[in-house]
Amino acid sequence: MKNSRSTQLFQEALKTIPGGVNSPVRAFRSVGSDPLFIKKAAGCKIYDEDGNEFIDYVGSWGPAILGHCHPTVVAAVKAAVDNGCSFGAPTELEITLAEMVTKAYPSIEMVRMVSSGTEATMSAIRLARGYTGRDKILKFSGCYHGHSDSLLVKAGSGLATFGVPDSPGVPADFAKHTLTAVYNSVESVRELVTANKDQVACVIVEPIAGNMGTVPPNPGFLEGLRELCTQEGIVLIFDEVMCGFRVAYGGAQEVYGVKADLTTLGKIIGGGLPVGAFGGKKEIMKHLSPAGGVYQAGTLSGNPLAMTAGIETLKLLQAPGFYQDLEEKAKFVAEGIAKAAKDAGYPIYSTRVGSMFCAFFSKEPVYDWDSAAKCDTKAFATYFRGMLEEGIYLACSQFETAFVGAAHSQADLEKTIAAAAKCFKAL
Ligand code: PMP
Repeated sequence: MKNSRSTQLFQEALKTIPGGVNSPVRAFRSVGSDPLFIKKAAGCKIYDEDGNEFIDYVGSWGPAILGHCHPTVVAAVKAAVDNGCSFGAPTELEITLAEMVTKAYPSIEMVRMVSSGTEATMSAIRLARGYTGRDKILKFSGCYHGHSDSLLVKAGSGLATFGVPDSPGVPADFAKHTLTAVYNSVESVRELVTANKDQVACVIVEPIAGNMGTVPPNPGFLEGLRELCTQEGIVLIFDEVMCGFRVAYGGAQEVYGVKADLTTLGKIIGGGLPVGAFGGKKEIMKHLSPAGGVYQAGTLSGNPLAMTAGIETLKLLQAPGFYQDLEEKAKFVAEGIAKAAKDAGYPIYSTRVGSMFCAFFSKEPVYDWDSAAKCDTKAFATYFRGMLEEGIYLACSQFETAFVGAAHSQADLEKTIAAAAKCFKAL
């Protein structure tokens, strides 16, 4: 594969951009190569600066559920640009998207738009603290909720990839308010809550963990959290930035039938433009400024281009059978990859929820961070580079999720499985 232009651009980028990238997970560091510089994308295909074409399973880390450049979304955004890129004043578009979100998620009675998932989770925990008058928060090892100080403790995604789960620059005085429990263990939560009686403001969880690879919740886990939080007056926050509108139109809450007090969203609801949102019970949301005292704001919040892309995307997701089709595609490719590994005599542990899936390079089941961390990341790196050579663009870390989108065709999925078979045989 020719990559001279990407290599040259990366060298240039290193001079003015720390590490050559604007977000660490893009750097290909843990897989021992340089990142590809992308020129354009269309449907499920992504094209780099050297003219290589790949089948894309990153989908901009989640938003591209329709594939890239869906013509309806593109046309709507182009028309919106003509009306102005940003006003810093209320628009009808914001009401439309808010109504679509509250309709999709019965637990969300009111919602505030922000510009990233990080802002959504940061603001949701501030609101939970303001509402309860408590300081401590509880998260799970291996879950990632963006990069605000309180949440960079035993975090997943790039932090798991680079082995720095606790970032320098976060004062110990902040981190001490963050308690960390074991994913899929209600017992570990109960112990921490008992030891910190009446001090925990919120439990924040990825109801389907997607930032340590894909780790589904065990039966009873989300229900157990719901019961405990209700008993203890703790705000339960489901971080659905990744799985929201991804695993079903009503996200994880629709799939598992458990309601959160607050929900954070992002990625898909912005249709590829920068958006996040947090919402939930009116009783809690009314404490947010200017209705209440908990402050939160944003120059570009509710940006008209982003609202437009979000509205058009959500409209398309409502097509009859959309999620069923997506699920069938994802099942086909995830099971095909797992079978290819088995046939090659190479053990993997395959997980999937809806169109999120992961091939863990492990013989043992993966259900929390400790079991995920046992994966053979060196073998994954070899597999990743092999797949890239075969024209398959995967997330460049074992601890990330692969996404199938509506634009992947049967031929794309079959090509992916054939590539995986070749790569597993070569391991
Ligand atoms: N929460 C979850 C579950 C995420 O997956 C992410 C991003 N991968 C975030 C929060 C942060 O979102 P953003 O990168 O838009 O700040």
